[in-house]
Amino acid sequence: MRLLITGGAGFIGSHLAELALLQGADVVVLDNFTANYDTALKQANVELLRRRAARATGGFRFVRGDVRNGELLDRLFARHRFTHVAHLAALPGVRPSLAEPRRYLEANVGGTVALFEAVRRHGRGVERVLVASSSSVYGAQPGPWREDMPLAPLSPYAASKAAAEQYALTYHRLLGVGVTCLRFFTVYGPRQRPDMAIAKFTACALAGRPIPVLGDIRSRRDYTEVGDVVRGAWAALLEPGADFQVYNLGSGRPVTLQDLIAALGRVLHRPIALDLQPPAPGDAPATWADISRARERLGYEPRVSLEQGLARYVAWVRARGPGYRGTTGTSCSGPRGNRPA
Ligand code: NAD
Repeated sequence: MRLLITGGAGFIGSHLAELALLQGADVVVLDNFTANYDTALKQANVELLRRRAARATGGFRFVRGDVRNGELLDRLFARHRFTHVAHLAALPGVRPSLAEPRRYLEANVGGTVALFEAVRRHGRGVERVLVASSSSVYGAQPGPWREDMPLAPLSPYAASKAAAEQYALTYHRLLGVGVTCLRFFTVYGPRQRPDMAIAKFTACALAGRPIPVLGDIRSRRDYTEVGDVVRGAWAALLEPGADFQVYNLGSGRPVTLQDLIAALGRVLHRPIALDLQPPAPGDAPATWADISRARERLGYEPRVSLEQGLARYVAWVRARGPGYRGTTGTSCSGPRGNRPA
């Protein structure tokens, strides 16, 4: 497999790249180091991938650049003759998309179109393209959410993901290439984005500060450990045929914020104080994946329990030392809290 991972210096992309290297793939990571959080974390992810690649059979190359740069994509496709593409480059997060909807449109929709245009020009050997989508496309419908339910985005971020899915389907029809949209559900784990709830909660709890909780403490999220997510993504990448697929990659077991915080308290062995705040616009009251399609067709089975996953994440944070807690976006002082990404 010759695999291009856009956004591969980020959280989920770097885990997917690690797994692909372990499986013997040749991996090219394209990432522009968007400053949605501390780019030192992305740099560290690339360094980690270089270390992994030194022990792998496949090759590894990191290219710093923008997925919307057609000339750059032309050079990469011509040189590496990719067989597979995982398109994860995007601006993530619901809240910032409300402040900068055009930027989200340009990065997430424009980036997806630019990528498929490169596949159209050069991608005769491309067998499958994965496109990262999000649970947020389901909006506030009652769960569990099945892939055939209507899309009901509540934020510019969710709308950009829904639009990217439509472009993915359109290019599948135009080019006859295999395309899979993966709807990720609140992914967490080592190297996770510092702006996300679990990172924020952990940082605050370790600093002995109250956890900022936005809205209803009984709201539920389908937290999914990144190891499970990339195992599902890998299986999706390997699916044969030139069809179009959509899969929920969630845990299928939503938990309340209250239960999440209680589990974190048990993992940290300390009581956690709460700073209750009003709900944020764009947030869904609950997220809940029906994962039966991924289970049946991909053999996807989430293995990591919430407590195991939190323990793994906390161990990673502790291994980074106290300095990590103050990293941009991790500071306890901001009003961010729980939200889907
Ligand atoms: P991330 O921010 O850690 O990773 C995204 C990467 O894409 C970043 O490294 C960024 O620098 C890069 N990028 C952004 N715009 C780019 C561009 N124009 N050109 C090249 N690179 C660019 O976020 P993540 O949490 O790893 O998310 C990965 C994907 O999964 C995104 O598409 C996101 O929308 C989606 N997603 C994530 C979650 C989650 O819970 N983390 C949930 C649903 C969907």
